[in-house]
Amino acid sequence: MRAYNFNAGPAAIPLPVLERAQKELVNFQNTGMSVMELSHRSKDYEEVHNRANSLLRELLGIPDNYEVLFLQGGASLQFSMIPMNFLKEGQTAHFIMSGAWSDKALKEAKFFGETRILASSKEDNYTHIPTDYSLDEVKDGAYLHITSNNTIFGTQWQNYPDSPIPLIADMSSDILCKEIDVEKFSMIYAGAQKNLGPSGVTVVIVKKEFLESAKEDVPTILNYRTHAKNNSLFNTPPTFAIYMLSLVLEWVKEQGGVKNIQKINEEKAGYIYSAIDNSEGFYKAHATDDSRSLMNITFTLPSEELTKKFLQEAKERQFIGLAGHRSVGGCRASTYNAVPKEACAALAEFMTEFKNQNS
Ligand code: PLP
Repeated sequence: MRAYNFNAGPAAIPLPVLERAQKELVNFQNTGMSVMELSHRSKDYEEVHNRANSLLRELLGIPDNYEVLFLQGGASLQFSMIPMNFLKEGQTAHFIMSGAWSDKALKEAKFFGETRILASSKEDNYTHIPTDYSLDEVKDGAYLHITSNNTIFGTQWQNYPDSPIPLIADMSSDILCKEIDVEKFSMIYAGAQKNLGPSGVTVVIVKKEFLESAKEDVPTILNYRTHAKNNSLFNTPPTFAIYMLSLVLEWVKEQGGVKNIQKINEEKAGYIYSAIDNSEGFYKAHATDDSRSLMNITFTLPSEELTKKFLQEAKERQFIGLAGHRSVGGCRASTYNAVPKEACAALAEFMTEFKNQNS
């Protein structure tokens, strides 16, 4: 039996993907080897690598003037690589602070140059995406950094800013969850372990023109140009993670692409938000209505005691990973692409039943 996996990350992988990987594990396409045993310079592997690249381009509508890179070091290394490559002397990197991961990105940028907080919702314990800022203030800045979905707090940008300077988004926890206009961004990055597959690979989508503007004096492996020039094969890439990414992308395509995935995600999140909204205040959403996330649904119960009881009973019914992050408390249901609709409907039903028995 498969658990109802609501973990925040690493997160659920679609079952058909796991089954296909299992089937192919020992003998990949009659090579007599596992995909993880193939040379990264072999034609067989290169096909997997290029397929992942082209599928991502197709699914997100990434134009030809963007590079798609497969890197390592997680989204966390991007927090450092971005300023290392793009924050030049005399320039300022601007940040909109919407959660703990924005904080971490800002902290790393400070090692490399001037930074400025354009807006922040920290004082409200990150219950919403900040709206009180003027983009006129970022003129001449190196770039504007945002976190599109705040995994810990359960908030998500609904409309991205029309930034006059390069816009960079950490989309680690919501890439491929809904349709986006890639051309609004100079760079998008995401660790794979939520919507893209297992951990180990980090996807970077970067506009070529922006890449060309990067600094030259950056160590080879940390320089985006190195990876762009070498089709992300400068050194040994995380081949198995990229293979799994390619299978997840095939699966997204089979689901009807991102457009249909978005529809399903809206339905999934709808079940759980409805259970919160119809609970007569028993469950309280952490996020304000205008900032609610499709991917991480954060809520509290009336007391610590009831929260513990809820989590215990949920676990007994195979609902896994519902404890909230310690900085928010309460509960969090992560409803990434691979979490089936039935799991969300079942959780909503359980929430209502629990409320009726305990209020
Ligand atoms: N950014 C966001 C929005 C995240 O949710 C996470 C991890 O949960 C990270 C960055 C860090 O990612 P990684 O562990 O790949 O460094």
